[in-house]
Amino acid sequence: MRASLMYGAGDVRVENVPDSVIKYPTDALVRITASCVCGTDLWPYASLKPEDGPARMGHEFIGIVEDTGSEVTTVSRGDLVVSPWSISDNTCEFCRQGLPSSCIHPQANFWDGETDEGAQAEAIRVPLADGTLVKLPVEADSALIPSLLTLSDVFCTGYHAAVSGGVDERTRVTVIGDGAVGLMAVLSAKRLGAEQIVLMGRHQARTDLGLEFGATDVVSARGEEGVEAVRELTGGYGSHVVLEAVGTRPAYDQALGIVRPGGVISRVGAPQYEEAPIGIGSLFRHNIRLAGGPSPARAYIEGLLPDVLSGTIEPGKVFDAITDLDGVPTGYQDMADRKSLKVLIKP
Ligand SMILES: [Zn+2]
Repeated sequence: MRASLMYGAGDVRVENVPDSVIKYPTDALVRITASCVCGTDLWPYASLKPEDGPARMGHEFIGIVEDTGSEVTTVSRGDLVVSPWSISDNTCEFCRQGLPSSCIHPQANFWDGETDEGAQAEAIRVPLADGTLVKLPVEADSALIPSLLTLSDVFCTGYHAAVSGGVDERTRVTVIGDGAVGLMAVLSAKRLGAEQIVLMGRHQARTDLGLEFGATDVVSARGEEGVEAVRELTGGYGSHVVLEAVGTRPAYDQALGIVRPGGVISRVGAPQYEEAPIGIGSLFRHNIRLAGGPSPARAYIEGLLPDVLSGTIEPGKVFDAITDLDGVPTGYQDMADRKSLKVLIKP
């Protein structure tokens, strides 16, 4: 079968790899009908060392179950399913707590940690299929597929930012980042009733989509100037909740400048730093809390599914390009160059 592999920074290739097959009785084999490139994939695309490659790529997919192990009960051959970006049993202590991203089952993992599988491919072996996969009540060619595919990661991740930040109808929110996750954070803050949603981003096509998703204001300035602009929009006080969807240290510093006393910085952009201020001059002095982490997407899918199926919300609008497997390398480059916001793959 064919799959995409990253050999190093800027070097993605589509090649023949051994067919994915069932290994354990709890596995399912899924033929992928829709996948995509994630903003997270752009971190290794910028920095992967050749000695750490080649790496199978892709952690978001929808597909048709081709085969199941003998112990799988919730999905069967022919079912259309969506997978979250991590594998979990959905039954352990942490899964029951709503944190499948911390599942303690020995086979639990993030797809990016599965060295022999990847979603930017024709097929995939899904460990812990009963816990991981969610059956979809539509056909594989449904017009809803782009929106349903966002449940794999970006929509659930934006939603996790908003939920972790405690967004509600009394909340003034600022979202840092106009990538797919930032825009999903806007949609999620709107869904949770936020009073004000300031979107910080510099790409007008993206911030326009943010306005469509519910942003009330857009700030294109960054750094001190951006902080000042948000403070002006919030009566000088700052935002109750800052949803940080970038992951860089400057984005964290920007969040610190924007959050109001007693507020929350909720981070879902994978941090590319280990050290940042948390002391008296930053978090402590004004009772500011830090929240967020890898999205427990599996825990949100069923709750978000009805509004996606009814078309009430259309998170799939973040896809602005579509390709087959052959076009995946170009898709990466277009996203790195910011020519594309998010690329949908039809293997
Ligand atoms: Zn678990």
